[in-house]
Amino acid sequence: MNKKIKKMPKVELHLHLDGSVKTSTANELLNKDVTSKMKVDKDVTDLNNYLEKFAIPVSLMQTKENLIKISKELAEDLKKENVIYAEIRFAPLKHIEQGLTQEEVIDSVLEGLHKVDIKTNLILCAMRGDSNENNKIVVDLTKKYLNKGVCALDLAGAEALFKTKEYKELFEYAKSLSVPFTIHAGEADGIESIEDAMSFGTKRLGHGVRIEESKETLQKIIDNNITLEVCPTSNINTKVFPSYNEHNIKRLYDLGVKVTINTDNRTVSNITITEEYIRLKDTFHFTIKDFHHMNLNAINAAFITEKEKTSLRNIINNF
Ligand SMILES: [Zn+2]
Repeated sequence: MNKKIKKMPKVELHLHLDGSVKTSTANELLNKDVTSKMKVDKDVTDLNNYLEKFAIPVSLMQTKENLIKISKELAEDLKKENVIYAEIRFAPLKHIEQGLTQEEVIDSVLEGLHKVDIKTNLILCAMRGDSNENNKIVVDLTKKYLNKGVCALDLAGAEALFKTKEYKELFEYAKSLSVPFTIHAGEADGIESIEDAMSFGTKRLGHGVRIEESKETLQKIIDNNITLEVCPTSNINTKVFPSYNEHNIKRLYDLGVKVTINTDNRTVSNITITEEYIRLKDTFHFTIKDFHHMNLNAINAAFITEKEKTSLRNIINNF
């Protein structure tokens, strides 16, 4: 079944570009071995600690050449795993330290992705802790590039330190411009973050796995068809669950929650999408049929047109 898992067409909605820089590329660009500084180890204690692993990749992603190379390599890796559509996210304002404009950053990432024959879109991340002024720039950039390689806005960063409710105005602004969005919530922070994100009108939650802390909110998620971008290995890394066995993805799936499978950060979490499926199969006995179902959930929630969804569904259903 492992071979079949690798071969099956897959859709990934929650994948950070800066968390997926190949260690071989970083080592080559820096001319030293930084592998251990880019991957989690047993000493990771929480999300904040996990986020420290992004320092080196972000420092490297400051030139057009590097942005193109890193994006192209990610697209190549996804294609090798038979990913048929991916929404890749990153925070453009983190990549202007060496003088690139925000547009040059986005154009370079798109150029890298488009060198590979795979369907992708970008989600631009506003950051918790950044100024409202900067985050509004990210909304404006999303609007500017919408349907031109960018499909939506996200809110990422230290969730427990900077509460979701503080970003109400930002999402009001996004809505006023008809910018679609997803929000990281229910990972480091609990039900309150999920409730706040839903009150902003989000149809997708980055993680959202702490939903079981309230039966009422859980029912709301089911009733409103909110899709969860679940990243099991990442959740173990950041100690949302003590072990893979104790992850709630199977329970949520069985309850009818619209769950999808994602890696979050291929390098930081030391995982590929194929390995994530295999772990899920080994731990929870998910079948190929279950994985198909979750991929269809992902297509339904993707930030693409109905026509594009139909063509992706055809590929999944014909496998
Ligand atoms: Zn994430």
